[in-house]
Formats: sequence, structure tokens, C-alpha cells
Amino acid sequence: MYEQLIPCDHCGGRPTVGRSQRLVSFLPDPTYDYTQWGRLAGPPLIGDTLPRPPEAPKTEHLVCIYCADCGMQTPWEAVAPNERAAMDRVGELWNRRLNRPEAEITDLQRLVEREVGVPDIPAVLDLLSRTKGNWDEMGPVFAMLARRLIDATIVTFDGWPIEPVLQDAARYRKLVQLVKWIQIEGQRYAEFPRIYSPSENGELLFEDCLAVAIDSLPDRDRW
Ligand SMILES: [Zn+2]
Repeated sequence: MYEQLIPCDHCGGRPTVGRSQRLVSFLPDPTYDYTQWGRLAGPPLIGDTLPRPPEAPKTEHLVCIYCADCGMQTPWEAVAPNERAAMDRVGELWNRRLNRPEAEITDLQRLVEREVGVPDIPAVLDLLSRTKGNWDEMGPVFAMLARRLIDATIVTFDGWPIEPVLQDAARYRKLVQLVKWIQIEGQRYAEFPRIYSPSENGELLFEDCLAVAIDSLPDRDRW
């Protein structure tokens, strides 16, 4: 969903996931000073994820999408019970509040929004340069591609660097090539290889530790 968020309609800034929390109970607890955290302290603040002390009134976690540049923001959604669903809801709100004319969501458009990114700019230009005639049909497609490429430039350059994503994709493919099918009680399972990770890598970040371990596997057979 993140890559499908449209840049801010107000300033063109980058949509960002905001997190906060708010009181679950709307009945005031007379034993607790609500001026510190709670309804009387104002609306949820972006970035307020500090765990409350156990004696403080219970809060629920929230997400929103906001513009990192001008602060335009969607309403808050409660994370529970499903964080992915909550993020999808605020993502849809974010994309819907824009003034952009509602284009019909065709399968092609969905494909473009999910799959076309900054690295595809040369390919799209090449396609455009080689198109002859039939502009009535191709024009709107190119308009859609161009719109998407501009959006992707803004959204993905800061927040979703392409290179690590490609490296991770290569690692995944390497792993896939080493997958074995195994049968357990008549059901088929994909078993990923057990990967050696030297203990001296233990101080790396979780992701980096895995990446180093996978990189040390033999390169995949590109046939
Ligand atoms: Zn903005």
C-alpha cells in the first residue's frame, strides 16, 4: 500500500505513516490526573508511542497517514485488531481525499499503480517513442503511466530506496532456488534451507545479520 499512496495534494510532499495513542475509556477516572496524558491533554499527537506507566489509564494505538512537509493528515484509525487493515483504511482515505479526478480503476491501472516505479522511466519513454498511431487509445494509458511515475518519484525516492529492495529480492530468489518440497502426513510443504550464521555476526541488526548469512550462500544458478 505504501508505494500506492499519492503524494500530498496540498504541497506534493511525501505521505508518511503516523502513530499515536488515545484513551480507550471515555469515563474519567477520578483517581488519575488526566492533564498529563489523556483527553484533557488534547488530540493524539503524531509520534506519541511512549508506553504509559501501568497505573495510567489504558490507551489504544492509532495510525494515520500525514504529509511530512505540510502536516495534512487523515483521521486516526485504531490499530487493533488488525494493523494491516487499519493501515489500508487510512491509506484509502488519504488517496480518496485528493482532488484528482476519479479515474476508473481498471485492471491495467491497478497493475500500473502496483508495479510501475522509478526504474521503469526509460522503458516507458522507449515505449512512448516507438508508438505509432492509435493515440485515442494509447494517450490515456501514457497519461496514467506518466502520473504514476511522477507519484512514484516522490513517494519512493525518500521512503523506499530501490536498491535494498532489489537486493532483498535477489536474496529471496536465491532462497527459493534452494527450497525443497517435503511431504508431511500427505501434505506438501516448501522447506527453506537452514542457513549458517556465524556467531560473530550476532551484533548486527536482525535484517543485516540475515542478509549477510544469505549472501554467504553460494550464488544461485542462473540457468
Ligand atoms: Zn503536504
